[in-house]
Amino acid sequence: MKKIFLITIHGIVQGVGFRPFINKLAIKHKIKGIVYNKTGTVVIESSSSLNKLKSFINDIKTKKPPASVIESITLKRIKQKKEFKNFTIAQSKKAKEIKFIPQDIRICNDCLKELFNPKDRRYLYPFINCTNCGPRFTIIKDTPYDRKNTTMDKFIMCPSCKKEYEDIMSRRYHAEPNACPICGPELTLQKNTGQIIECEDILKETRNLLKKGKIIAIKGIGGFHIASLATDDNAVLTLKQRKKRTKKPFAIMSDTIEKIKKYAHISDYEENLLKSVAAPIVLLKKKNKNLLSEYIAEGLSRIGVFLTYSPLHYLLFDEDILALIMTSANISEEPIQYKNDEAFLNLKNIVDYFLFHNRDINIPADDSVIKPFDKSSFVFIRRSRGYVPLPVKLKKKSKDIIGVGALLKNTICISKENYAILSQHIGDLENEKAYNYFKETIQNFIKFYELKPESIVCDKHPDYLSTRYAEEFAKENKIKIYKIQHHYAHFLSCLADNNFYEKAIGVIFDGTGYGDDGNIWGGEFLYGDYKNYKRVAHFKYMKLPGGDLASKETVRCAISFLSQFLNEDEIRKIYPDKNVNLILSMLKKSINSPFSSSAGRIFDAVSSLLNICQYSTYDAESPMLLESLAENYNDKENFEIYPYDFFQNENSLVIDVLPTIKKIYSDKQKKSTEFISFSFHKTIADIILNTVKKISKIYKNKNVVLSGGVFQNTVLLSLTIDLLKSGGFNVLFHKNISPNDSGIALGQVFYK
Ligand code: ZN
Ligand code: ZN
Ligand code: FE
Repeated sequence: MKKIFLITIHGIVQGVGFRPFINKLAIKHKIKGIVYNKTGTVVIESSSSLNKLKSFINDIKTKKPPASVIESITLKRIKQKKEFKNFTIAQSKKAKEIKFIPQDIRICNDCLKELFNPKDRRYLYPFINCTNCGPRFTIIKDTPYDRKNTTMDKFIMCPSCKKEYEDIMSRRYHAEPNACPICGPELTLQKNTGQIIECEDILKETRNLLKKGKIIAIKGIGGFHIASLATDDNAVLTLKQRKKRTKKPFAIMSDTIEKIKKYAHISDYEENLLKSVAAPIVLLKKKNKNLLSEYIAEGLSRIGVFLTYSPLHYLLFDEDILALIMTSANISEEPIQYKNDEAFLNLKNIVDYFLFHNRDINIPADDSVIKPFDKSSFVFIRRSRGYVPLPVKLKKKSKDIIGVGALLKNTICISKENYAILSQHIGDLENEKAYNYFKETIQNFIKFYELKPESIVCDKHPDYLSTRYAEEFAKENKIKIYKIQHHYAHFLSCLADNNFYEKAIGVIFDGTGYGDDGNIWGGEFLYGDYKNYKRVAHFKYMKLPGGDLASKETVRCAISFLSQFLNEDEIRKIYPDKNVNLILSMLKKSINSPFSSSAGRIFDAVSSLLNICQYSTYDAESPMLLESLAENYNDKENFEIYPYDFFQNENSLVIDVLPTIKKIYSDKQKKSTEFISFSFHKTIADIILNTVKKISKIYKNKNVVLSGGVFQNTVLLSLTIDLLKSGGFNVLFHKNISPNDSGIALGQVFYK
């Protein structure tokens, strides 16, 4: 009998081919023992010598599967004595364990080599994959993640594939979507009339069509993309016109970093993000001399770029194609198209051709979008394919809870034991299709994670479809329901994201949320923790003539401020072509003019006042244009902090930015819009610091949480973090999820 060592590996180590990897490595190192999963960790028991195990561990760290993340490895001796004769993989110790579902992973380097190796049996095969790469979450139908529970169940493996699948030493051992040209999925190229294009080489034909400026719907991993040449103004404008998409930017794909460097600035950090296994769209700074069509991201300092991440994507490119538009194929704000028949019906008026395949997508997932800032951080703009359903680990055990999220950019979240799992991007629950997709996602998550919900949590807004759903669900299942104020949920989401259980000051800036007093909140300073909160400061209420309409027609926000210090004639002079009279009379008579403390609307007002954006044609267009001007401003040492006031009402501190708006109004002829935009961002950061200082004095607390969609503005975010840190504050910002409404569901399940 020998002494036993126990190696415990923490991190993302389940569902990423970790145990077969350990097994192979153990054989190589002649390690004897056993490997198994235990509550989210991988555990190895071994009777081999300490020296052998040390070099084994070294190899684990350096050769780990690409999709795994090792947080820590511990090695300790245990009292028990045993002797192992060989190395084996054991079944999970507890039957009740959460069955984790792996995320979709970019094609690995080994598969990529095979893809372009003429001698390989998968040469140019668009569905090549292995345990280290390929679709996962998007093809799953049930847990555990096993071929029979995926959409690959309809393909019977040929003898060669089956051999790999069953050989523990093979890179394709239990690679569930394993396939080859003989037994696996196939492509079909079809015209928008329905006519199937018969040709020798479908991919060559597709490339030729793209080069001719054709628009093609291409089925990918999480749904359809609409592709067209990004260098061809005509193609881009035609696509815009057919998609009825005014200025909303398109994402751009290239197959090499070298190509991307031609049209965007890339740091080493950004290059790693582009190449990461999640393969997100990364918002990069445009290069001045743009090789791409100028209509792709009009007025914006950054452009959304991603690297080819599936084998099919690689085969869409050759030396002549610098970049393709690869935009999510959806109709207006509906969920992404992912079924062949539906996509054909819905997209045939937008695209010229379809490149279909017959590997079904069961769970649609949009591309994720991230925005780098401060050299080595990024903020999620959208967290979806490649990151979902990676769990957020919680220090405290949770009951089985469902959070249904808010309304816009909805996601749902479940919590179970020490994990919270946030769903993919579902969308705006304002159309029926998105609502159905939302309901389906909840049902899927209950099934996948064998959830026995003991409560359901929703927003306080009485009219959100998610709130109504939660009410019905609670009634039907006889479980508790909690309704959480929107900005408190944002605050909670950031606490959860940081595993933070102490008290903190929350700076929560967004567009709209239903406040405890029935007003529209959105520029809030909270104090509290995961159990409760107080609203300690907020922006002074302004009237929003037209309510929600003011978030699109930014002029409404501007006039709401201007009417406080200018007469009607003066305002009419600024906006000669706007319906100023109507807006003014709404304000005067308080018709449909709810009170709002929204930070987003202040950005809108400034954007309108500077004539940067009078109408947002897509979500957050106006603040994004404002931010772009601030980002492009060159002389960052030269700025002005605009004036603002504080006053105290009975419950909280109130911040009045009317002096800021007045100063911007009087400066707008004298200074450049870049200067004013940057100074305005500086001013908001200054307001945050000074408000936080006041709160900190009262509560003797130095922890500051930043959350809400406004903090996707990385100019503001960087300035704020810098100021707070130099003021001695402990700043908590998001790491694993987005600060916008897509994170709300995580906050909801973190409550109490
Ligand atoms: Zn691979
Ligand atoms: Zn095969
Ligand atoms: Fe929000």
